[in-house]
Amino acid sequence: MANGLLIINDDHVVLVDGCGSPLLADRVAAEIRALTSLPLRYLVITNWHGDHHLGAYRLRAHWPQLEIVSHRYTREAMDGAPMDYLPRLQAELPAQLAALRQLEAAGFSQDGRPLPTVLRSDFEDLVQFDTLILSELQASKVTLPDRMFTDRLTLSSARRDIEILYLGRGRTAGDALVWLPAEGLLAAGDLVAAPTPFAGGSYPRAWLETLTQMGALPVRMLVPGHGDVQADSVYQAQLQATLAMVARKAETAVTSGITVDKFKAAFDWEGHDFRFHGNDPKLALRWQQWFAGPVLEAAHDEARGVDKDPLLATTTVRQ
Ligand SMILES: [Zn+2]
Repeated sequence: MANGLLIINDDHVVLVDGCGSPLLADRVAAEIRALTSLPLRYLVITNWHGDHHLGAYRLRAHWPQLEIVSHRYTREAMDGAPMDYLPRLQAELPAQLAALRQLEAAGFSQDGRPLPTVLRSDFEDLVQFDTLILSELQASKVTLPDRMFTDRLTLSSARRDIEILYLGRGRTAGDALVWLPAEGLLAAGDLVAAPTPFAGGSYPRAWLETLTQMGALPVRMLVPGHGDVQADSVYQAQLQATLAMVARKAETAVTSGITVDKFKAAFDWEGHDFRFHGNDPKLALRWQQWFAGPVLEAAHDEARGVDKDPLLATTTVRQ
């Protein structure tokens, strides 16, 4: 589930993400009530992935006036085919969990080999919490944003201005950043996720450019989409260096007519991978699944000029 950021203004509260499941949304609502009697007025969703918003309807049940804000593309994706994964997962997960339960009990993984230690604890978690995972998934729902923006939207209040920015494609085609200039605080959404970045469906060259622009903001504290709050830009610089290398090599490969399979098979990470996972087996597995494979495919697509997520011209924009 994505991180959440709560901002308490003089007469209302703003939440960024932090409601990826119904239970999480209920807990965030309880947290808000424990902190203040002010109403939750705005929810900003930084990207269309369900772990950022699938419990939003529970927040609206607590605060019917809640206004949900996102980038225009994010709303389109939440209202369109990208979100089809939710009913598919709702239909398929019971059987998948049942299969995992059998594998976990037998101590074997899908390929028939003994379950690696690195996977065992993940399997055990899934089996232990399978009832909760299923009920949360079945209760998950898309609640479409009411208010969209394309480049910038300012939520002004007596206490502070909150800037919601779009600096270009990156992790998705519609990543929103939430910037509090007075505090130097930035919620970066999944443009920054740690310790393992997610890259499926991303735009590595554009992502690098977006991070470079983001780097011009005088950030004192960065809330990533996933992972711990960052007080320096070390991790962001590491991510930028890796994206730069990947994008450059993909562009060279495409110019030379190298297919994506050959590009992936011959790719030399030049030590960038180690900086993210330090040979920790679990982090190394996540790096492979969440970043290394997907980012090479995404970079090859991007270098070939594939537009995976064109904006639909029919959507009305309200700013
Ligand atoms: Zn996320």
